[in-house]
Amino acid sequence: INEKVSSETKCFCDQCLHPGLVDYINRTLGTKLVDDILVDAQHTGYASRMFFQFTVLQDLLEEMDFDNYVKYIESYEEFVQNWIWKHILEHYAKNEDLKDLEKQILSTNLKNLEKEILSAILKKIKETLENLRQKDGETVLDFLENFCQEMQRDLVISNYNLIGMQFTSSSPQFASCVKKFLPDLQKTLLSDLDILDIESKLSSLSVKPQDEIFKKVFGCGKQCPFCKVPCEAGGSNHKEHFAAVHQPQGLGIYKDIDSEKLVYNLCSTLVASESEFQCEDTDWEWHQFKDYRVYYPDWCIQPDPSINASDYWKFFLKEFNHDLAQHYGCKPADLPEDWKNLTKEHALQALKETYNMKLV
Ligand SMILES: [Zn+2]
Ligand SMILES: [Zn+2]
Repeated sequence: INEKVSSETKCFCDQCLHPGLVDYINRTLGTKLVDDILVDAQHTGYASRMFFQFTVLQDLLEEMDFDNYVKYIESYEEFVQNWIWKHILEHYAKNEDLKDLEKQILSTNLKNLEKEILSAILKKIKETLENLRQKDGETVLDFLENFCQEMQRDLVISNYNLIGMQFTSSSPQFASCVKKFLPDLQKTLLSDLDILDIESKLSSLSVKPQDEIFKKVFGCGKQCPFCKVPCEAGGSNHKEHFAAVHQPQGLGIYKDIDSEKLVYNLCSTLVASESEFQCEDTDWEWHQFKDYRVYYPDWCIQPDPSINASDYWKFFLKEFNHDLAQHYGCKPADLPEDWKNLTKEHALQALKETYNMKLV
């Protein structure tokens, strides 16, 4: 192959194939990552919305970090986004960066995924170059037009990039020269990818795994106006928000006005009682809990004084009663005596029961 053919081909590879392939990777990698993460859903926590909720609460319990709990309670949506983001980064962190053996096994090599995607598309390009029937007297531009048409589902090569290119070679010469350039192109693309960190890679993908997974596990995201428990209703367009068991109300700033102490009762108990509440939404007027739907018509809270708080949240309140009171600028709750014996194990057990996890 003479120098002229070689430089014409290189020009095409650099200006058309290279950007086309970068675009292809950015369009394909996101979907592959979502599949890859969801294959391991039982380990990564995304098997279902309920399982995700369980995994998040279990994580919080393991860490026992009050600030994290506050983020969960006060900015649930942002908390979930950050949680997913952090776990994706961890999932694709380089093995040597992970101390945890279990995480090492789970972490997938992002490089291998990229290699797979790139090899597959390069193979297709090679086959197309070989199989395109070349007619007598066909110019390189005619040939390229056919090539682009053949590849159009995968590669977007705009005619604009071809403007100004002069081809003196014949189309068979050109095709075989492009084939020879493919391994180099592969090397360049892979080393370009190699210097990017995972954050910048993920941000250039057209399908962003963090957004796809968020959509799958987040639900409607509404929180109970009193206790801040996230809505558990299924489907994205339900009319009423609902949670099987509410959290002690103190979690959502509710305090007794007279004593200034945090309230630990459940919404289900209070809406069955004669108790009253006041807040910004009622213009600080007193209002009966049982008529909460006047202010919160889209919430359905079952009145049931027999429902007890989960040991999970009892344990949380026992551990962080003072922190929470300080955070909300009030006095700690007078917790029942028997809550004081609760341990982390009780909390975990209660969590597993709530979410029907196999007790290990
Ligand atoms: Zn509630
Ligand atoms: Zn809802």
